Amino acid sequence: MDFSLTQEQQRWRNLARDFAEKIIKPDVMRRDRLPTAAERIPWDWIREADKQGIRTMGVPKKFGGAECDIFTMCLVGEELAVGDLGFAVIMDQCWKMANLFGEAMNAEQQQRFIPKFVADPEATTAIGITEAGAGSDHQGFYDSPDIDFKTTAVRDGDHYVINGTKRYVSNGSMAKLYFVVARTDTRKTLREGGSIFIVPSDTPGFRAGFFHEKSSQRLATNGTFHFENCRVPAANMLVGEGLLGRLRSEFMWGSKAEAAATALGVGRAAYEYALSYAKKRVQGGKPIVEQQAVAMMLGTMAMKLDAARLQIWKAAWLADRKQPEARPLGLLAKVNASETAFECARLAGEILGGASIMHEHPVEKYLRDASSFLHSDGTNQVCLLRASQAIAGQGAAALYGF
Ligand SMILES: Cc1cc2nc3c(=O)[nH]c(=O)nc-3n(C[C@H](O)[C@H](O)[C@H](O)COP(=O)(O)OP(=O)(O)OC[C@H]3O[C@@H](n4cnc5c(N)ncnc54)[C@H](O)[C@@H]3O)c2cc1C
Repeated sequence: MDFSLTQEQQRWRNLARDFAEKIIKPDVMRRDRLPTAAERIPWDWIREADKQGIRTMGVPKKFGGAECDIFTMCLVGEELAVGDLGFAVIMDQCWKMANLFGEAMNAEQQQRFIPKFVADPEATTAIGITEAGAGSDHQGFYDSPDIDFKTTAVRDGDHYVINGTKRYVSNGSMAKLYFVVARTDTRKTLREGGSIFIVPSDTPGFRAGFFHEKSSQRLATNGTFHFENCRVPAANMLVGEGLLGRLRSEFMWGSKAEAAATALGVGRAAYEYALSYAKKRVQGGKPIVEQQAVAMMLGTMAMKLDAARLQIWKAAWLADRKQPEARPLGLLAKVNASETAFECARLAGEILGGASIMHEHPVEKYLRDASSFLHSDGTNQVCLLRASQAIAGQGAAALYGF
């Protein structure tokens, strides 16, 4: 077993580390406190990430991307999230969809959609599944035709007509290219009747809605958007009818490991800040890092972060090799990393004492940010249940082939 990174992986990690240090960290607290979601969108950082190849690092090489593997995206995701979780999520949504560019789009779709995405330095992608009545229920854990998933796509000649509303979507209402889940057969379960359409934001009938105001990942948007008799060519359907049930088992191999890596970055940021604070803050006649109670909290954080990272790396390694164990392990890595990040942010707060809630320090932001991944990418409860089912080879998870 070899834990060393290749030169290429080190290059990407260092590039992302520099991006976080030099570009994100100096201005992130000011931006985090801007009052509206629209003002907070970091268009300049997205353009800079484009210049440095980060935005398109998952795009196939023949279209001008770097075609990085999932493992490398995990390295970069962690580093960016040490700077800011929201910005890491904006990028990660692009990488997740770039996996679909390479693996799920047919050649004609690739020609129509990828060059446009690559050429626009502000273009991001999003996947719209969640609706008001279907949150956990679209995760496949409760796979029944009667779930309250309203978005439909009805065939009309060589088009589909989409109607419905999505909410909470990362990069929602700011992205240029959407992957949208709609029911093409309402008599079937979502697994069998949920199809995926590629919808550029300038398609008539697509209407960007609003950005949810929120306490976490404040530089990223979570958008609500609408489809009002939105006519999409049948040729925009990804793979075929009922893809949702096969999406996770056949195409999105690394999405959970990547999400976990970004969550981990927040925990690391909290740890690094608490460590540097503890070296400077003197109480009891010496720097508090020398006080056993504080040292034990730092040791606990280091232990949990390292364990979570190893689990993510294993999940990513398996995902890059399309090994079935990548599915339950990815789910477990996301649960573990998000809980680790939340615990590290809490312990950082203990170490800062009263300073933890003061705006002069970033720890209150880390706590807010770390809370988001307890629920996004599937709630931790549902992720654990899905992983357990997959391990046992039972139920909806077995059907989904997680
Ligand atoms: C930061 C963020 C980013 C997101 N990004 C996207 C995105 O890009 N695209 C997208 O489509 N969606 C996105 N979402 C939505 C996300 O997928 C849902 O929020 C998530 O799946 C949970 O759904 P919910 O919020 O409706 O919670 P609910 O489903 O209402 O869950 C509430 C509680 O009930 C529990 N619960 C629900 N069902 C069951 C069950 N069957 N068994 C046991 N317990 C259950 C849950 O574990 C939880 O504790 C995002 C959400 C957030 C917060």
